[in-house]
Amino acid sequence: MSIFNLFKRSDIKCPRCLGKGFVSWEDINRLNRQLKWVPAPCAYCNAKGKVEKKMLSMVDVDCMYLTIDLPESVLDKIKEGDLETIEKGKQRELFVDSLIQYAEHHYVTQNMDAESIANLYLSNEAENAPFSATREELIKYIQGVINLKKSTLN
Ligand SMILES: [Zn+2]
Repeated sequence: MSIFNLFKRSDIKCPRCLGKGFVSWEDINRLNRQLKWVPAPCAYCNAKGKVEKKMLSMVDVDCMYLTIDLPESVLDKIKEGDLETIEKGKQRELFVDSLIQYAEHHYVTQNMDAESIANLYLSNEAENAPFSATREELIKYIQGVINLKKSTLN
């Protein structure tokens, strides 16, 4: 290897989408983000397939919050390492994690369906939740949690 390689711009293959520019179900499974992402253009490399090396130290490859549906201003803030934005992203991930646990718990211990769990959540928990979701969104989401749980229990 030539020493001059050291001075080249160090773009590397995007570790989130593996250079495809698109995050597929395979990538989602590999990064264990099944309930948090859906297949979409890759926000980590901005669908280019390559990222600058410094990106790796700035943002975790599986950073849940960094998805393509965010406004560009927010994407930029995450990539710049803006603490407030990153904190908000962490809060959101915690919220989603707790919702997943809530749904799994009621499905596994009480065999409740998605609709009943959503109703229970809305009457007991939603008031104190840091993020809101509509009843339809909740049911759909909880159904996804149950489906994944079913597939791992088999
Ligand atoms: Zn990518």
